[in-house]
Amino acid sequence: MSSPRPTTTNAGIPVASDDHSLTAGPNGPVLLQDHYLIEKNAQFNRERVPERVVHAKGGGAFGFFEVTEDVSQFTKAAVFQPGAKTETLVRYSSVAGELGSPDTWRDPRGTAIKFYTSEGNYDLVGNNTPVFFIRDAIKFPDFIRSQKRRADNHLRDHDMQWDFWTQCPESAHQVTWLMGDRGIPRTWRNMNMYGSHTYSWINAAGEKFWVKYHFKTDQGHDFLTQAEADRMAGEDADHHIRDLWTAIKAGEHPSWTLYVQVMPFEDAADYRFNPFDLTKVWPHGDYPLIKVGRFVLNRNPENYFAQIEQAAFEPSNMVPGVGASPDKMLQGRLFSYPDAHRYRIGTNYMDLPVNRPIAPVNSYAKDGSMRFSIDHDPVYAPNSYGGPRADAAYGTDDSAAGVEQEVIRSAYRLHSEDDDFGQPGTLVRTVFSDEERARFVDNVAGHLSKGVSKPILEKALDYWRSVDKDTGDKIADKVQG
Ligand code: NDP
Repeated sequence: MSSPRPTTTNAGIPVASDDHSLTAGPNGPVLLQDHYLIEKNAQFNRERVPERVVHAKGGGAFGFFEVTEDVSQFTKAAVFQPGAKTETLVRYSSVAGELGSPDTWRDPRGTAIKFYTSEGNYDLVGNNTPVFFIRDAIKFPDFIRSQKRRADNHLRDHDMQWDFWTQCPESAHQVTWLMGDRGIPRTWRNMNMYGSHTYSWINAAGEKFWVKYHFKTDQGHDFLTQAEADRMAGEDADHHIRDLWTAIKAGEHPSWTLYVQVMPFEDAADYRFNPFDLTKVWPHGDYPLIKVGRFVLNRNPENYFAQIEQAAFEPSNMVPGVGASPDKMLQGRLFSYPDAHRYRIGTNYMDLPVNRPIAPVNSYAKDGSMRFSIDHDPVYAPNSYGGPRADAAYGTDDSAAGVEQEVIRSAYRLHSEDDDFGQPGTLVRTVFSDEERARFVDNVAGHLSKGVSKPILEKALDYWRSVDKDTGDKIADKVQG
């Protein structure tokens, strides 16, 4: 019986069989003439794009963001105007593990959001933590190498991790956070998302503010203990991907409430912490959370590769009303994200359906590998033939980037309360409950008990005593006892 929908080659030509190659007789050798067999296997050999060097393992979903409050006094961005509703995509990921690694390893989670706004794509590429391990992008490759695999035996190595962390005491805040309960979220639905970096906002009158984003989970926080996470890594390495997919499929649409902290532009100069240092938070007591709206996930991807693996998020995608800040990690990421996409996906990655904005694209980009848009003349600017024109009245405002006088390589200028151990100490002493503090001591001691050499262990114990003397002593007792 003939099929109503015959299989075809990639050129649309019907094919005779998906079961048998062309051979010379039933037992004969396979013929090179079987171009369909060749096409099929050649395509298979090329199914992968390089996995992301960081944040390789992840999953995601589509949804929307709805503004429920009025923050127009701080930003003119269309996506944040009262009542605006914008289609979104989010990709969650772990950081250090490879594509097949367990979802429940202790690691920060990436929370990359794409807002398909009327003014172009706005990407907010954050984490489930408000801070990070380092404050200068020049350390990023070293940091990641220390968390990945050794050159000789290709194993991850706690000695290497603690060597890097203790050499870079600015990591103490994020490591404290990571070793706490929130270091292994039970599901992606049970964690917050943070923009983490400081950004600038600009209102319609041209006034500027500094801003930090906090998406608080409406499902409530929940975590896995180390023992639960270790067990889950064996039972279901894809626990987080499965949970999100299953919840959305069942109509349980997870949501987050977006709040921002807003700092008047002038406050930055002598605020007690350097407000652009990614290893610090702005305490809520100084800059309270201001509600903005609601972020909902309600649609699973139809094709993981096309819509998640090839999704390209880049902090440099900022819409009018949003700008960068002098945060040195953010500055580095403005370059490295689009560069990573050009390498892994190709020059025209932004033309893929998942990356394409809903706003019209009037760029003068043309050609390049796999270009499939039809670019029309004129192909240069300026021109006399009616092509698009750049216009400062519409463009993003880059003036908040905070250029100082001299070009130097230097640490941040220290503000009055800047140090590496103060905020992690506050987290341990005042935010963690007694029970969480006890689990924290176990988590750190457990980590330090696996393959950490004596000299690095000594440094690690000093590091924790600097965060909090009593907690450091307890960790030492556990490890040495
Ligand atoms: P606050 O008491 O005002 O804020 C404490 C924050 O800590 C809350 O936002 C809470 O988030 C969060 N939190 C609660 N339990 C944990 C945990 N186990 N691990 C990580 N975070 C947790 O104090 P400050 O603003 O002065 O900050 C004190 C410390 O809290 C900081 O050093 C930082 O480590 C941590 N923190 C601060 C944030 C900020 O933006 N200020 C954001 C997140 C953490 P929630 O309300 O969602 O439960």
